[in-house]
Amino acid sequence: MNNPSLPWQEIHHVLLDMDGTLLDRHFDDTFFLETVPHFYAQRHAISLEEARHRTMEAYMQNQGTLEWYDLDYWSRKLELDIPLLKEHVAHLIQVRPTVLPFLQALREGPWRVHLVTNAHAQSLALKMSRTPIGNYFDSITSSHELGRAKEDPLFWPLLQDHINFDPPHTLLVDDSEPVLTAAAAFGLGYLVHMAAPSSSLPPVYSQHFPSTSDFSCLMPVTKGG
Ligand SMILES: [Mg+2]
Repeated sequence: MNNPSLPWQEIHHVLLDMDGTLLDRHFDDTFFLETVPHFYAQRHAISLEEARHRTMEAYMQNQGTLEWYDLDYWSRKLELDIPLLKEHVAHLIQVRPTVLPFLQALREGPWRVHLVTNAHAQSLALKMSRTPIGNYFDSITSSHELGRAKEDPLFWPLLQDHINFDPPHTLLVDDSEPVLTAAAAFGLGYLVHMAAPSSSLPPVYSQHFPSTSDFSCLMPVTKGG
């Protein structure tokens, strides 16, 4: 894999994704691929196999859209109380290894640090209550506030108006290549792909962006540091 070395003196703003980047996506995968089909099968009195098939089909139709991340949408569509079901597997919400030292180092440096997520307000609140990461940011933005998903090129000017970052001096770390591609098109200077979003899957490195599976490779250094 490549080991991104970043010119930290050139970087003023750091934008960080949440699920699959700072937090282990094992939680989200387990929730959507195991928990939801299980309760969907019960609710609709069908086999688990049929429930897996129907939920997967519904997911595929909404990938990359804001609906995909909207728990109210899924509650209506699947006729399940999705936020309540999330509590069933909330013990799986984990900060990825080496993330907290990375966030601490950013906090101690000159950088403005922003959490920028597609997570819905309820998911965000659940994850903030289950992990300490919320203490490390200058701002937290859910794309639902801005009305566009991060994969959408129109998201990026809206975010710039919202948190006032300077694209050429901004770093984004995200596990989604479509998101990194949209951010690159808007002119973000530094893009890093997180290659190991889930602790239960092997890393898959990007062919298009500097890519790492470990935040210790990204530890910031100040001038002379
Ligand atoms: Mg992500």
